[in-house]
Amino acid sequence: MNMNWNQLADQSLAGECLSQDSALAVLRAPDTAILEQLAAAYRVRQHYWGNRVRLHYLLNAQSGLCPEDCHYCSQSKISSAEIEKYPLMATDKILAAADRAHQLKAGTFCMVISGRSPSESVFNRVLEAIQTVKTNYDLKICACLGLLSKEQVDRLAAVGVDRVNHNLNTSEDYHSQICSTHTFDHRTETVQHIKAAGITTCSGGILGMGESDQDVIDLALSLRQLGVTSVPVNFLIPIPGTPFAGLQTLTPRHCLRMLCLFRFLLPSQEIRIAGGREVHLRSLQPLGLYAANSIFVGDYLTTPGQAAHQDWEMIRDAGFVLEAPDGSPLAANNIAIPV
Ligand code: SF4
Repeated sequence: MNMNWNQLADQSLAGECLSQDSALAVLRAPDTAILEQLAAAYRVRQHYWGNRVRLHYLLNAQSGLCPEDCHYCSQSKISSAEIEKYPLMATDKILAAADRAHQLKAGTFCMVISGRSPSESVFNRVLEAIQTVKTNYDLKICACLGLLSKEQVDRLAAVGVDRVNHNLNTSEDYHSQICSTHTFDHRTETVQHIKAAGITTCSGGILGMGESDQDVIDLALSLRQLGVTSVPVNFLIPIPGTPFAGLQTLTPRHCLRMLCLFRFLLPSQEIRIAGGREVHLRSLQPLGLYAANSIFVGDYLTTPGQAAHQDWEMIRDAGFVLEAPDGSPLAANNIAIPV
């Protein structure tokens, strides 16, 4: 099919959904089309987000020891990956991480805990830690705590959590291939609770887990239907010791095509290039910013990210600007690159 990528951008900007054929064409385009695709995706990104790049900072506040069997996850009971395992961190450690997020000009501090769902005592301690961070720092807080009941989400809203993350991870059809201990419906239910509580919904997926092109499209369409606001796009890091160790299906150009597809289908959403950015986009990382408008600065849950100064330099060199925590652009000459 001879595609006019700009026409897809026009459709996307008009709020129309891409046809199945067009969505597949985005993913199956030849490598030679990549710059034209990115230019079209950039028109959409630019319309909603200008040249700004949002930074988020992740803290794995409780690691490992999870009874679930998500095949991509180094913290699962079935993983033998050599990772640090620890129960919920003390509040002063969480506060120190929030301070680092603040120094790196992250607008959002993402507190993640491993596990299917938090116990009552862990949940209460998380609520306390969130309140302490909010009192001390002008950071938005995103909580990622596993499957949550409506009551738990309401309690998070009551302490001022700005957003809650719960990823769909993959398509409904493919979900049983990546996890057997909970279902796609469990995940969408939690996302619906977040939406009902009026908190910003953060939900995305992990690409490169052996799914088909159709699964990638279906995941993006599910997120569109759920009306999520923020979309982390992870690229699988096939961690040794996990069932997906050694799974290598991605190329940097294909990652870019998938980011373009997500932008066309989720035009106004905050699309974040999440875990796997450095591993899979490699030297093409800056091109990802033409489709996505957000990245994590610092490390991921159990794998390292590149140094913060490299992220900052990449953003500046490509002509983008950091977004201040209040959403305004940060003038490049006013900020020192962090160490
Ligand atoms: S992704 Fe979450 S629920 Fe799944 S194994 Fe990892 S920590 Fe547990």
